[in-house]
Amino acid sequence: MQIRRLKLSGFKSFVEPAELRIEPGLTGVVGPNGCGKSNLLEAIRWVMGESSAKSMRGGGMEDVIFAGTAQRPARDFAEVVLHAADSAGEELEVVRRIERGAGSAYRVNGRDVRAKDVALVFADAATGAHSPALVSQGRIAAVIAAKPAERRQMLEEAAGIAGLHVRRRDAEQK
Ligand code: ATP
Ligand code: MG
Repeated sequence: MQIRRLKLSGFKSFVEPAELRIEPGLTGVVGPNGCGKSNLLEAIRWVMGESSAKSMRGGGMEDVIFAGTAQRPARDFAEVVLHAADSAGEELEVVRRIERGAGSAYRVNGRDVRAKDVALVFADAATGAHSPALVSQGRIAAVIAAKPAERRQMLEEAAGIAGLHVRRRDAEQK
């Protein structure tokens, strides 16, 4: 899967709607401290279904919504749109939106879906919120320090079989 475009609105420091094109190949994000590099990576993880507020460096999931500054009022929602092409070249549009007091909602290609549907879309494509393709600060040290079971999970995610575990758990519960 190839991420092609990202649109952010009200997400953390990206208060005004911003659109980025992501070219094929390796992408690096550079800029001065505090300019929003980590926020950008977090936006990609978030739209892919990240459910841990802590890994978004927040206390609660609503902390991803622009909190306001001395000059600008806070926003009441955050939205991230991700455009990607799957391995067959098919276009994929995933939208995640969070409103204060209303939680997150997801859409895939214009259809309302559940968080776990989004997770499966990315797990099957060997990517997702925990994909080793997204290398954030501290991640390399975390790989080195990981326990064998955690490292196995990283390999399974890279191989695209993580989604099978979710389906097995589902099947076992039924
Ligand atoms: P560094 O080089 O230090 O790693 P960075 O480019 O990764 O910096 P980020 O951590 O992405 O920077 O951005 C930090 C900025 O985002 C801070 O100024 C912080 O106040 C702002 N920020 C984070 N969450 C919110 C929010 N919910 N509302 C408004 N601003 C936010
Ligand atoms: Mg950073």
